[in-house]
Amino acid sequence: MPELPEVETIKNELLPHIVGRQVNGATLFWAGIVRQPSVEKFCSRLTGQKLTGLARRGKYLIFSLTSGEVLIIHLKMTGSLLLKPASAEADKFIRAVIHLDKETELHFRDPRKLGVMWLVEDADSVVGKLGPEPLETGFTSQVLAQRLTNRTAPIKALLCDQTFIAGIGNMYADEALFAARIHPLRRGGSLSPEEVKHLHRAIQQVLWSAIGNKGASVDTYLRPDGTLGTAHFQFQVAHRLSGNLCPVCGTPIERIPIRNRGSYFCPHCQAEKA
Ligand SMILES: [Zn+2]
Repeated sequence: MPELPEVETIKNELLPHIVGRQVNGATLFWAGIVRQPSVEKFCSRLTGQKLTGLARRGKYLIFSLTSGEVLIIHLKMTGSLLLKPASAEADKFIRAVIHLDKETELHFRDPRKLGVMWLVEDADSVVGKLGPEPLETGFTSQVLAQRLTNRTAPIKALLCDQTFIAGIGNMYADEALFAARIHPLRRGGSLSPEEVKHLHRAIQQVLWSAIGNKGASVDTYLRPDGTLGTAHFQFQVAHRLSGNLCPVCGTPIERIPIRNRGSYFCPHCQAEKA
């Protein structure tokens, strides 16, 4: 699933091509991709507007429009946004096309049909409950420590909880916990101040590094020009098959289910403590 670094890459790479552009219309091949409002209203209200900005919040993309409304997109498990010339054919996984001026189109490609779009007046009605952005300056290790206080859930589950911290999913939670040498099943509130500092630094390091590598193409993630990201080549434990060896100590990496998601970790480097 695209996580913060993938969505940030899409935002960065789309931004120069779409800001200031007019929407000439939208074609939907899968009506279920529009969550709000109705499909008809979605298409008619979008048409004729200009895109005035593009931002990311958590794993959401937020396009601002001249009307003051916002178009919000969540790519979920398998979505990509591709920038195409108007002459390009839509492949069978394209669920929606947003037609822009200057013969340009934005294709929402989504093999599993889980992606969602909203057209709303108030972005907070969709993204208002998200936790802090891990790469913003306000997200200090003290903030992380505060949020972990008394939490009994496994730290891996908390890192993937979008109301606890925004943008991190299965891949980068595994990578951050490995970098901080913390077992994924440790209870959030049991981390020592030192461990919280290490985890805070690890979160920021793995996210920035993945952004530098334009995201991880482990599944269907594509950059807007259709090329792959390379962040997965840096992964230490995430998506390594069980039996692969830890790059630090050589112990076989283990995979355990936590809240129905496979969690990869090194049982030696991330030995459970307290
Ligand atoms: Zn190890």
